[in-house]
Amino acid sequence: MTDTLVQSTRPDTAVRRVDALVVGAGLSGLYMLHRFRGLGLDAVVLEAGSDIGGTWFWNRYPGARCDVESMEYSYSFSPELEQEWDWSEKYPTQPEILRYVHHVADRFGLRDGVRLDTRVASAHFRDAEGRWTVTTESGERWDTEQLVMATGCLSTSKLPEIPGIDRFGGRTLHTAHWPHEGVDFTGRRVAVIGTGSSGIQAIPLIADEAADLTVFQRTANFSMPANNAPLSDEAQAQRKQNYREHRRAARESGFGVPVPEATRSALEVDPEERRAQYESTWGRNLVGLLTSYTDSIVDAAANETAADFVRDKIREIVDDPETAETLCPRDHPFGTKRPCLDSGYYATFNRGHVHLVDLKKTPLTEVTERGVRTTEREYEVDDLVFATGFDAMTGSLAAIDIRGRAGRALTDKWAGGPVSHLGLQVAGFPNLYTITGPGSPSVLSNMMVSIEQHVDFVADAVHHAHQRGDTVVESTEEAERAWTDHVREVGDYTLYPQADSWYMGANVPGKPRVFMAYIGGVGAYRQHCDQLAADGYPGFAFSAP
Ligand code: FAD
Ligand code: NAP
Repeated sequence: MTDTLVQSTRPDTAVRRVDALVVGAGLSGLYMLHRFRGLGLDAVVLEAGSDIGGTWFWNRYPGARCDVESMEYSYSFSPELEQEWDWSEKYPTQPEILRYVHHVADRFGLRDGVRLDTRVASAHFRDAEGRWTVTTESGERWDTEQLVMATGCLSTSKLPEIPGIDRFGGRTLHTAHWPHEGVDFTGRRVAVIGTGSSGIQAIPLIADEAADLTVFQRTANFSMPANNAPLSDEAQAQRKQNYREHRRAARESGFGVPVPEATRSALEVDPEERRAQYESTWGRNLVGLLTSYTDSIVDAAANETAADFVRDKIREIVDDPETAETLCPRDHPFGTKRPCLDSGYYATFNRGHVHLVDLKKTPLTEVTERGVRTTEREYEVDDLVFATGFDAMTGSLAAIDIRGRAGRALTDKWAGGPVSHLGLQVAGFPNLYTITGPGSPSVLSNMMVSIEQHVDFVADAVHHAHQRGDTVVESTEEAERAWTDHVREVGDYTLYPQADSWYMGANVPGKPRVFMAYIGGVGAYRQHCDQLAADGYPGFAFSAP
């Protein structure tokens, strides 16, 4: 470790003093460490898990893989790295991404800067010194100038609010805490609750092993075929030849994935042409259907044409008409809950031992000793798999007692929903940065693109402060207000607020209903951030206590 030991006022403990602390050793935290070290700062990462990798360390359920192409969902900061690493598939599996993360950590010598099995419990700003005191769950204390929350948008998993979960006598699993040794479902009766991306990826593979599988669906989701395939040497070599250009296009795009720019409304083309356009995107990537026309995400009628297209596909795939109708999403516009890519999801319901329960008709009432009960009946199972998602965007931040100037708690400031400047900083919380925080493009993008952009912005802002002889960087209240209003206005212009999604906080009872991501596009967002940096960071105050 590079930290120095400084005697604390409490004789029994030492406070470790560093320039920068990063919380979380996923893709964000590791790159942040690399950038801070590049600036010559003494930086340390604290990670709750027993190894690095974040999302790709925790989510080991069968079928877990990325649904952004491997050659796009990878760091771009090092041309050498992107040339030397070979991906085996179009969409990489969780183990392959984790191997990649380990390769990066080794290649850039990052391991010695990470403290594992260390969960941060609190972070309190000391106004007079302009520094943070960070305390871990085990009572370790750190004193840092910069504090970066790389705690992840999808890292605080959640269980459904139904009674009796502890009562179940069989195996209980959550997709985000999957046992490292794997789970054998051979010959077992399994229930999966949840049909978001995790459930949709896991269900076909669990069905392959289980004797009997019952899927409990509350909201039908839009899913498209991944058409995953091995990546040929030729395809990789070709991409590597023009990787820089491809990265540039990703950074300037709307969702961090280069796709042709739409020029027409979905409603101004005739139905046959539109169908042909949708067909051409089907099975190509996650965003093609949504970006085919200019108004797919802002106009309900335009959106409905895409939604209809997917529903027709579901009816084509699923043999039983009643099951097909249950699987057809109707209660939210296409794309307003994160769409999924799947490998054989809908076809799984053609298998005799796979059953679908529509929780909209017969809601879950409780978990029993032997299984789950709905308003209709009890389902006896051996294994209960929760694919019930996360307290997204704010969950991991709210779990830490973060206090800024004058002891103000972040949870108080965010009681009505998150406010921020650029999704990066919160006024009154100097030197605290949130990587891919609420108010940034974040989860609406290829997150690799957003992560690198945020980390670079933070590193550059800190460097700028130090060059001026300052140590404190703090967003102003005005800048925060203006940005938060802008995020809301852009969100309100779209159909996103119509869905009961985790983007809206709707999956967590009591969470304020606020559209938490910025839908202005990663390209436009980057341009705005770059302009601020070029103009000397208006909206940020620099000082040296
Ligand atoms: P994370 O990877 O979530 O890492 C955060 C880390 O912080 C975790 O290791 C956590 O243990 C640690 N931490 C949290 N709180 C504390 C604390 N108090 N103290 C110490 N440590 C703490 N994005 C895409 O763009 N494309 C995809 O296809 C895609 N697929 C996904 C699949 C799954 C199953 C999930 C869950 C997410 C997926 N995502 C995808 C989003 C994914 O989270 C990001 O792409 C990316 O991995 C986030 O990296 P991160 O480092 O910001 O956060
Ligand atoms: P999710 O999308 O939030 O899905 C959770 C599922 O559980 C939903 O179907 C939800 O229904 C259901 N559920 C929650 N509480 C319930 C309850 N009390 N009773 C019944 N059903 C309940 O979570 P996720 O699938 O883990 O995915 C989260 C995000 O992680 C994704 O949106 C994506 O960004 C990322 N991810 C990506 C991939 C990938 O393919 N690359 C894979 C996994 C995850 P409702 O919809 O009705 O709330």
